[in-house]
Amino acid sequence: MKKIPFNLPGMIGREAEYLKQACLSGHFAGNGQYSKKCEELLEDKLKCQKVFLTSSCTTALEMVFILFDVKDGDEVIMPTYAFPSLANAILLRGGKPVFVDIRQDTLNIDENKIEEAITSRTKVIAPIHYAGVPSEMERIMKIAKARNLLVIEDAAGALDSRYKGRFLGTIAELGAISFNETKNYVCGEGGAILINDKKYNERAELVREKGTNRAKCFRGEIENYEWVDVGSSFVLADILAAFLLAQMEEIDVISAKRKKIFEYYCQNLKGLEEKGMVSLPHFFPEALVNYHMFYLLLNNRQERDVLRNKLKEAGIMAACHYGPLHLSPMGRKIGYTRGMFPVAENISERLLRLPFYNGLVERDQERVVEQIKNILLKRS
Ligand SMILES: *Cc1c(COP(=O)(O)O)cnc(C)c1O
Repeated sequence: MKKIPFNLPGMIGREAEYLKQACLSGHFAGNGQYSKKCEELLEDKLKCQKVFLTSSCTTALEMVFILFDVKDGDEVIMPTYAFPSLANAILLRGGKPVFVDIRQDTLNIDENKIEEAITSRTKVIAPIHYAGVPSEMERIMKIAKARNLLVIEDAAGALDSRYKGRFLGTIAELGAISFNETKNYVCGEGGAILINDKKYNERAELVREKGTNRAKCFRGEIENYEWVDVGSSFVLADILAAFLLAQMEEIDVISAKRKKIFEYYCQNLKGLEEKGMVSLPHFFPEALVNYHMFYLLLNNRQERDVLRNKLKEAGIMAACHYGPLHLSPMGRKIGYTRGMFPVAENISERLLRLPFYNGLVERDQERVVEQIKNILLKRS
């Protein structure tokens, strides 16, 4: 029986052609013609004044906290239901991630619990747009403005999602997106920092180039480049940007494919929701999402684990990310314990992500749906 993987990255158009051209061009490192094209395309599409490609979303987040000058015990408010990269980027600057619980419906940071987490050390609020679904940015920006705090959107999987007409990642001062093979639009490993406040443009260029003014040198503005700031090697290789350009040119095609996959799951699983056996993702009218993933919420951990294991026996791989960070070994090491964030704890025990990738064909999706129905209906 054919296995249905959880994720399977693929090509959508001219990847091989652009890769070959990039290989023949004699320019393999960053800041080449393909990087420029990707950055311009994203700036146009997202209406973002400056986009820099980075080697991952993780490194884009590391750049963010350098640019925000987070240091020595500065606190950053973020959801506990998150990917470790965001918390690491804070810790690496000497900052302190302060976790907050999530909303039951969007699985994003609960904006009503942000204010109680603010202290005199708070410097930044860092929402994540889980599953490409927007956090409540209007409220978050209002809280930040009133308290003089900075905001970064971890929009890793949210490229092409919108909130009240604006693309996610472009609403706060800075945003970060990912092109890792697990996201909608990919180049293996890659990411970008979205700079919405242009006061960060110049420093971002230095930080991204090992703290040097090498970009200025390439533009002929100075003779030799020098070490002028802290930084690291955050640039994406142009060879990967060549692959990425082919994906960026087909964002609409990819989004349409994913919409179809998402809607198939919705239509064919809503009967189970009506029976009270699962609940499906909930979206909001003002949000236009990018269909990053499809998940089911089972009634409890046991039902979730049984379903996951039985699907696995049938060759279908489903996944349960994330675990709440406050329950992880590292979260416990920095002082968190079970019981602190009940919504995230409960959701993460019941959530199951179904196979979802651009090349997922309807025949395979049908098999996933049939298996889920067989497993759940047989038991009741
Ligand atoms: C995937 C993901 C990341 C990490 O992205 P990379 O490009 O793999 O570094 C960070 N944050 C969130 C919310 C993610 O989903």
